Amino acid sequence: MGKFAVADAALSKIWVCKKCKARNKAGAEKCRKCGSSYLRPKRKDTRVKK
Ligand SMILES: [Zn+2]
Repeated sequence: MGKFAVADAALSKIWVCKKCKARNKAGAEKCRKCGSSYLRPKRKDTRVKK
């Protein structure tokens, strides 16, 4: 959703814990902070607006 495609790509791979809202890397099965498996992909619109 930003100007930086690289940053958007990185954000799209981030998983956010629903419990403690910690950011986890792609492929994470559990939250690195609280160990919860309630992870949600942080996906904003990856389409670039022009
Ligand atoms: Zn967590």
